[in-house]
Amino acid sequence: MARRSMVAGNWKSNGSQQSNQQLLVELSELDQSALRCTVVICPPSIYLSTAKEQLPSAVKLGAQNVSAFEQGAYTGEVSADMLRDTGCDYAIVGHSERRQLFNEQDADVATKALRLLEHSITPIVCVGETLSERQQGDSIAVVLAQLNALLNTLNSEQLAQIVVAYEPIWAIGTGETASPEQAQAVHASIREWFRKQVGAAADQITILYGGSVKSSNATELFAQADIDGGLIGGASLNAQEFYKICNAAG
Ligand code: PEP
Repeated sequence: MARRSMVAGNWKSNGSQQSNQQLLVELSELDQSALRCTVVICPPSIYLSTAKEQLPSAVKLGAQNVSAFEQGAYTGEVSADMLRDTGCDYAIVGHSERRQLFNEQDADVATKALRLLEHSITPIVCVGETLSERQQGDSIAVVLAQLNALLNTLNSEQLAQIVVAYEPIWAIGTGETASPEQAQAVHASIREWFRKQVGAAADQITILYGGSVKSSNATELFAQADIDGGLIGGASLNAQEFYKICNAAG
């Protein structure tokens, strides 16, 4: 069975109620019937409920983060149960901005992924190396170490349910994209890693590429054997551009 491709838009902490609603309107006006991939929109958490009401049913809702805790005295946290209540089918965990700016550790990322799976939400687990790690030839080792950290928390059945987003940190929001060959080499290693953990189910794991994807480079990136679509930041804030990227992943 062929893997279904996916494109997820990460709106990050951008926009206002008005501009986010406008973007949702523009997205819902586009011809959804032409889309052949799974499309996910991840707005800021405060706008998730509105997005759920406005998004066409073919477009899935995702969160950008989740609490590592189930529920209770954790001021400011949004739990997986709450995300499920709001209609989320996906949530990003371990985005490099959360790892770097909010000190999220590999173990936190694994716990968050587990919380999501317990509530039937698919985690989109982000991994990726810094520029200096790439320059030292350590990209694959860094990414596999981030994935290995999941093994302390997730069993193989749970691992087989996650989506991975390979996002080289030097390519996020910089306008600099990994070449299709660079990205494919890491994606192939990720799939090989999954083969060791989950056997043949590795062929069904969705592995997204993220890092300055635009409509002008999406087709070439998504044509690579192990690149199953993209996690899109900046370009997901423009409905027409995002739609073109979704079409490239068909
Ligand atoms: C991201 O934030 O996950 C991302 C890939 O951003 P951008 O597309 O802007 O590089």
